[in-house]
Amino acid sequence: MTRRERTSAFEVNVAGLLGEGPGSHRDVAVHDLVLPLDDGLVLGRPVEGSIRLARTNRGLLVTGRLAASLAETCSRCLRDVEVPIEVEIDEEALPSIDLTSGLPVDTSADPEVVRLSDHHELDLEPLVREAISLAEPIAPLCRPDCPGLCAVCGGELAVGDHDHPDAPIDPRLEVLRGLRVDADDATG
Ligand SMILES: [Zn+2]
Ligand SMILES: [Zn+2]
Repeated sequence: MTRRERTSAFEVNVAGLLGEGPGSHRDVAVHDLVLPLDDGLVLGRPVEGSIRLARTNRGLLVTGRLAASLAETCSRCLRDVEVPIEVEIDEEALPSIDLTSGLPVDTSADPEVVRLSDHHELDLEPLVREAISLAEPIAPLCRPDCPGLCAVCGGELAVGDHDHPDAPIDPRLEVLRGLRVDADDATG
């Protein structure tokens, strides 16, 4: 009975709404929605929010505001982080079947626009998926001042002591040390 089981499609039948005049609308609650995402993105928290379907003279205006989170990795320390996101949807959806004649609509004039199915169903899942994909942070951080990883030991700089006095950090110093050892050998 949970919406979580509805993973393949998030379809809404809008035949009734299309039969009403411009200005009519329906609000679709989005609750606990889990959906597969593109580009290896994984939801950290299900999608919540609301989508409004408003009748226009051509079809529907689909607007909404949704919140979720993405399971990401901190770009500095590689720790798992959950990044909250808020996305907006603002799309026009047009019928593929003429409402009065029942004949297929010539879709060549608007090839990019979202289309309703032959049965006047609107699949909201692709709209939600695209909006979330666009919200992916470029360089997520576990915290704004994450110091990242230690260049010497590879550990997290935020954890433990990384004052490594004896570690050769600069390769030029390593070369100098090698020269000194050679000199000692020569005189000893
Ligand atoms: Zn971090
Ligand atoms: Zn270290």
